[in-house]
This record gives sequence, C-alpha cells and structure tokens, in this order.
Amino acid sequence: MTISKTKYCAGVQCLKRLYLLVHSPELAAQPDDSAESIIEQGREAGMLARKLFPGGVEVSERGLDQAIRTTRELVANPAVQAIFEGMFEHDGVLVRVDILQRRRDKRWRLIEVKSTTEIKDHHLEDVAIQYRVVSRSGLDVAAAFLAHVNRGYVFDGGDIDVRRFFKIRNLTRRVERLQPKLTFQLRSEFTILSKPAPPDIAPGRHCTDPVTCEFYDRCNPPHPDDHIVYLPRIHASAMEELEEMGIESIREIPDDFDLTDIQRRAATCVQTGEPWFDRDGLALKMATLRYPIAYLDFETINPAIPRFAETHPYQQIPFQWSAHIQQRPGSEPQHYEFLATDENDPRREFITSLFAGLGESGSIVVYSSFESQRLSELASSFPEFADRINAIQTRLFDLLPVVREHTYHPAYAGSYSIKSVLPALVPEMTYDGMEVANGQDAGLAWESLVYGGLSSDKCEHIKKALLDYCALDTLAMVKLLDKLVVRS
Ligand code: SF4
Repeated sequence: MTISKTKYCAGVQCLKRLYLLVHSPELAAQPDDSAESIIEQGREAGMLARKLFPGGVEVSERGLDQAIRTTRELVANPAVQAIFEGMFEHDGVLVRVDILQRRRDKRWRLIEVKSTTEIKDHHLEDVAIQYRVVSRSGLDVAAAFLAHVNRGYVFDGGDIDVRRFFKIRNLTRRVERLQPKLTFQLRSEFTILSKPAPPDIAPGRHCTDPVTCEFYDRCNPPHPDDHIVYLPRIHASAMEELEEMGIESIREIPDDFDLTDIQRRAATCVQTGEPWFDRDGLALKMATLRYPIAYLDFETINPAIPRFAETHPYQQIPFQWSAHIQQRPGSEPQHYEFLATDENDPRREFITSLFAGLGESGSIVVYSSFESQRLSELASSFPEFADRINAIQTRLFDLLPVVREHTYHPAYAGSYSIKSVLPALVPEMTYDGMEVANGQDAGLAWESLVYGGLSSDKCEHIKKALLDYCALDTLAMVKLLDKLVVRS
C-alpha cells in the first residue's frame, strides 16, 4: 500500500481521518466553493514561485509511474537547474515536491510553497515528509525551505516582484529534528491502515485543527439546541470543566458556575425559553440615532496575489456597497448601490460613489467594525479623501455591540452574527435560496464576473445575484433596527 503526502498529513491530524480517506473516500464531504478557492490560491502561489527558478522543468505527467520516471530523468540531466512537481516514492510514501533546485555542488534544495503569510506547525510535517522521501530516494538534499507570502510586500502595478512577494524560510534543522517522530508516525499510519475497521477516535478540537476534516459531519452529529457549545464565546477550558462535571446542557449549568455576564444571560434565556431585551439600554442607544438613517454594507475581495497597484497580499478591496436610506421614522427606505464591473481598481469609484450616496448628515448603521476598517484603509490609500472618509466614520452606528449587549434570543445559538440574529428577530426575512448568500460567495461571484470571461448573459445573472444579496443585507438591518426600536 502507498500513501500520498496529503494522506500522511491527514494521519498526523487524526488516524481515523487517514483511514477513512484511504478506505472510504466516498464518505468525505466535497470541498465547497470557499475550500476550492483556497486550493486555487495555493496553486496560483505555486505557479508564481516557479518564476524564482527560470528554466525549471515541470513534471506534468499525472500517472504515477511515468511521473516518477520523468523525475528521475530530470534529476539525471545536469542541464536541468530546477524541477517543478517532481514525484518520489519511498517505503510506500509518495510525495510531489513543489520545487527542487539543483545546487552547484550537485546537492539539492527542496522548496515547498504555501499561500499563507506565516509558517504554521503543520507545514513542518509537510516539509519533513518530503525531505525524508526525497532524501531516501537517492537525492542529496542539502536544505529544505518553505516559501510563504510576504504580507508586507506592496505591489507596484507592473509584474509581481517574486523575490519580494515570497519569504523563504530555511526549515532544514527543524525538519531533521522531526525525522524520529515521522518514523513512529508512519509506523502507526501503516498499522492502522492494515486493520479491518477505522480506529475508535472521539471527535474533538483536532477535527478542525489544522483543517476542517472532510468527515466532520459524520463524526460530529449536530448538538441539541441547548448544548453548552451554544453559549456565546465559551472557552475550551470552561467546556472541558462542564464536561468533566457531566454537564452537556445549558439548562444544567449550576448558578455558581463561572460565566461571563453575556453567557449567564444566554444561559437564562435558554433555561426559560424567553428572549431578553434590555429596554432601557436599547432606548438610550436608539436615542443617539439621527435621521436620515443610512444602513450600509460593503463587499470585498482579499486576493493573496495583489491585483492593483499600491495594495499588498490579502488586502481587502471593496468592490460593492449597498445603502438603504430612511429619511424619517417609519418612512419607506430608498435604496442606493454601487457594483464595480470591470478589471480596474474599483476603490476610487467605490468611495466617490459612496460620498454621493450617503450625503452629509445622519447616522450610518453598520453591523460590525468591518466597514469602518475598510474606510480607514481607503483613507490611507487615498489621502485626498481622508477628511470626507473620516466624516463618514464619525456618523457610523455599529448595531452589533448593541445587539450583543442589550439582547439575547435562544435562537441566536451563541452567535451574534447577522445570519444568526436575523432569523431570530426578523423571521420573515431569510437568505435561504439566494444564489449569493454570504460575503465569501459574493467575493467569488465578483471574481468570476470580472475575471471569468463569461458570456454577457451569465455576467448579468451574477450582477443581479450580487446586487440582490447586498441589498438584502442592508434591508435586513432596517428590519432589525425596527424590531429593536419596538423593544426599547
Ligand atoms: S471528524 Fe474528527 S474524529 Fe472524525 S475522522 Fe475527522 S478528525 Fe478524526
């Protein structure tokens, strides 16, 4: 039996995960659009890193034997200075190496490319298994590196400067030190795989760390509505303490158990089945609102590889806004919106259209600090607009802390996100059935609209889905605020 590097790393996370991947892959959940986009981001970073090694040759064969044969031929050819995606096998473990660079002394450098902005613990296992297999396949590996994205790199608008875009870290000593652990881990993995049934491993924090396991739903059936996991911001140590006391239901938490005020309030709501509204606190907050009230929401992308000049990796780039504006209490809100639809940097048009849409006075209701953070970034990117942006920021009214500090509903299930709060307080509104139903969907939809080369019919379809979604987000805030006013 052979296992790939990916399966080896899955086994480091959980031996049951490895077993199921090998013996019952059909039970695995398929990656969703956001997981696919992370994979794609990694692939793009890998392709970019190849530019650091001009003249490198790719092993493009997908078939195992042929890929190994081609890799051997390239290794034997001294004219080849770098090999991309070289395939190696040793003792039942297969690895495909992002980059192998031939040194002048005929030894090799191994380079793994990641689209993250730092080294994570599980990257070490990833590099260590490659180092082991390649070294034991007969290559003299002098050093092992990890190339990751340099968050501090600022794109100048021409070609990406790959030398500055990546940070290359030497992990040789660390992966060498891991080798005895790998020997032990590999023995465990092959032993487990030879068994007739998966190991009996209880689910736990490892199910989502370092990645969410594809068998998560299978091992973690949904908790009942009153489970302690649904207390707001419950800390793992408090969960453990309660579990040790044999307590799984919020209803059974003793009165003297140490909870934060917000958690205690949530527990009381679940125990009584009644929502809680702090009328006086809500009234005080509502009294600070000034008409016309605008309800505002942004959508953004944050690409690993910058697209626009003067931006850095993973910088949030706003491409769409929606605002519902209510002139006076009870009046029908008017809707205003902006959506960038071409490949140009959308930020200047975004902010100038926003100035026009929001006018000069009145409160601007948002849900979370996200919009304020984006405005700060726009102010530093476009200093000529800084004063006007600052004027908008002083008008912001963040509804999230108001909801968090002055309300609770058992249906929040411990979360104050608008996607949890809305169905509890405004059940007549729903995101169900929307083609774009969250911020991540919106970013992916915009990428395909602008860069996908789609037919005009498809583009129109995506535009409508984006506009509908963002408009619903701001209309949701109108309705939410109405409900809070009634409760104040
Ligand atoms: S869900 Fe958790 S316990 Fe189940 S296979 Fe995955 S990591 Fe292991």
